Amino acid sequence: REFAEISIKDIDQIAKNSFPLCMRHLFEKLREDHHLKHGGRMQLGLFLKGVGLKLEDALAFWKAEFSQRISMVLFEVGSERFDKEYAYSIRHNYGREGKRTDYTPYSCQTIITSAPGVGDHHGCPYRHFSEENVRAALGKMGITNRAVEDVMDKVRNIHYQLACTLKFEAVNGTSCDAGINHPNQYFSDSQKVLQS
Ligand code: SF4
Repeated sequence: REFAEISIKDIDQIAKNSFPLCMRHLFEKLREDHHLKHGGRMQLGLFLKGVGLKLEDALAFWKAEFSQRISMVLFEVGSERFDKEYAYSIRHNYGREGKRTDYTPYSCQTIITSAPGVGDHHGCPYRHFSEENVRAALGKMGITNRAVEDVMDKVRNIHYQLACTLKFEAVNGTSCDAGINHPNQYFSDSQKVLQS
């Protein structure tokens, strides 16, 4: 599937409009903490690649965040350490290092069955958050109580992708008959609605 390119200056707006909850959460945590652990970097990094963030922009985006954290916490020149420790794995995800595999973004199935540990922010919020935290996250997006309850009903019945589909429909004000099975599908379907 082909995606249009996106640029760093638009990324906050795009995240707000068109990221599914799993990616929105990772994105917000990255902006807040200027750091994500490995699982989060992989899940968000490959998603952003699928969304159309070019390698040079991905390097600049991650570097800006991680350098702040490194400088704050370790009092080192963050950009140098970033180049040494993190740039390789980003280039790797884009198939420019190692075996040069062009890695694809994770599907919902992969994300739902992942096992985030303490301090991790990856995974699927409908599967891995407490009920209270799902409610809070949806409430923050201005989703009506009624729609939140419908989502929670699916969560309790272990239908995480259906919960995500209902959230998509509530946010975009349109039906999504195919259902959500991939974060990048969520993104492209949302962009289609916005551009129509
Ligand atoms: Fe992300 Fe898929 Fe979970 Fe939706 S169902 S939040 S797209 S992993």
